[in-house]
Amino acid sequence: MTLYFASGNRHKRDELERIFHPHSIRIPADDGIDFNPEETGNDFISNALIKAEALYRIVQKPVLADDSGICVDALGGLPGVKSARFGQDEGLELDSGGKNLLLLTKMKGVADRNCRFVCSMVLYLSPDRFFCVQETLEGILTHELKGTGGFGYDPLVYVQQYGKTVAELSDAEKDACSHRGKAGRAIAELLNRHCT
Ligand code: IMP
Repeated sequence: MTLYFASGNRHKRDELERIFHPHSIRIPADDGIDFNPEETGNDFISNALIKAEALYRIVQKPVLADDSGICVDALGGLPGVKSARFGQDEGLELDSGGKNLLLLTKMKGVADRNCRFVCSMVLYLSPDRFFCVQETLEGILTHELKGTGGFGYDPLVYVQQYGKTVAELSDAEKDACSHRGKAGRAIAELLNRHCT
């Protein structure tokens, strides 16, 4: 089955292609669709649904959407749903490296470094039929960037189970423990059980 994935993030698409194999994943850009809905929700699941509904309106076919981010306990759960836009509230327009440095700066001298990646994922079959899942990957925020794999905040999150940051994990290791891997497998199971 082909699933449209409501995102322009090629890293996420690569992860989902591995997780959803043998189903195939298309992103709006593959069909020349300009897709950038405003993420106005206050939580991950609301934003995942906003993206799913917006793409379903265009393609009228089964859609997969996710919204994800990093929540840091000592920052009251921030950057959370604003992870992709971290710094904008302060007038900053940062690339991925800049966001990582901003997070390290905010956490300078802070002892409680517990954090988690969160992923809400939606399989949207029609406006009346959809499945939602939310999963996490618990981690500890490092004091410096470590590792070159993955994307986003991966070099800052140490995973105790592997003794490495997410950016040092192999693709298979990240898929096995990650918020998106766990949510994706739960959704794939629903897809295989109910929709094929
Ligand atoms: P979204 O595309 O609106 O869901 O924004 C997700 C943002 O959260 C990304 O741009 C990253 O900054 C961060 N993020 C989500 N998942 C991951 C991950 O697996 N690794 C690193 N950063 C992530």
